[in-house]
Amino acid sequence: LDLGASSSLQAWVERLVERARRRLGQGRVADYIPALADQPADRLGIALCTRDGRLYSAGDAEEPFSIQSLSKVLLLSLALRSHGDALWQRVGLNPSGMPFNSLMQLETEHGKPRNPFINAGAIVVTDHLVGAYATPVKHLQDIARRLSGNPSVLIDREVLASEWRHRARNAAAAYLMQAFGNLHNEVDQVLEAYFASCALRMSCRDLARAFHYLAAEGRSPTTGEAFIPPAMAQRINALMFTSGMYDAAGDFAYRVGLPAKSGVGGGIVAIVPGELSICVWSPALDASGNSVAGQYALELIAEELGQLRRGR
Ligand code: GLU
Repeated sequence: LDLGASSSLQAWVERLVERARRRLGQGRVADYIPALADQPADRLGIALCTRDGRLYSAGDAEEPFSIQSLSKVLLLSLALRSHGDALWQRVGLNPSGMPFNSLMQLETEHGKPRNPFINAGAIVVTDHLVGAYATPVKHLQDIARRLSGNPSVLIDREVLASEWRHRARNAAAAYLMQAFGNLHNEVDQVLEAYFASCALRMSCRDLARAFHYLAAEGRSPTTGEAFIPPAMAQRINALMFTSGMYDAAGDFAYRVGLPAKSGVGGGIVAIVPGELSICVWSPALDASGNSVAGQYALELIAEELGQLRRGR
């Protein structure tokens, strides 16, 4: 795919922000915790990272935001790296068709979450990491810093405290899984590590760079190293395609057709395998919990990449 010269890519990203701004004013900022309800609804940022590791960005792409569920991709990558396919005995691979924090299937399916991108699944994945690392939270923050190339990536203590105070549902999921023998460490310790991962603050630029390994067969352009093996990157993309966009994964696949993961902070990371990693951010969400302007920007990107592929 010939994406053209640097100058035209930069102009493209700027044009995308201008067009996607038309969707600002629609949707609602997440309010399940007070720390997120304060987010400014009028923000919109886009960043792209190309195969050569170059970044193109426009709008509010440098402003750090709460990555929330985007962390589930990092948690999964780390757990697969240290435990390989053994993880799949404890977490499933199929879309849940239920809200991301639902408890219903956990009871009927004996404590095995449907997939690693619903909360219960990510809590099991975090349990793996708590067992594997002496300081899992620090490890995660270090990885986020290394992959993004930004040493000032931080965990937002206010968001972390807010998640903790409003933990009832996630705690219920964790205790239910413990009762079924699918949680091996202290519930409080696992929850704290899970919330800390959600509370990481990163910008579109940080995230486009950090997640580029999924577009580059597992190799990070920032560290120059293979972060995960190529087959693992392909499988994580497949899971993002089927389960990355909450209940709307099917709609999004139809409209955009790219593996993507969304978070309630308004960020979405999307991957064009072999080509690009993209991060869009705008805090106002639709009823499924996906950023309204962010999804629209990704629709525009997918449409234009399709045209490029077909030679216009
Ligand atoms: N921290 C959130 C929770 O566990 C994750 C929200 C999200 O899906 O982005 O409830």
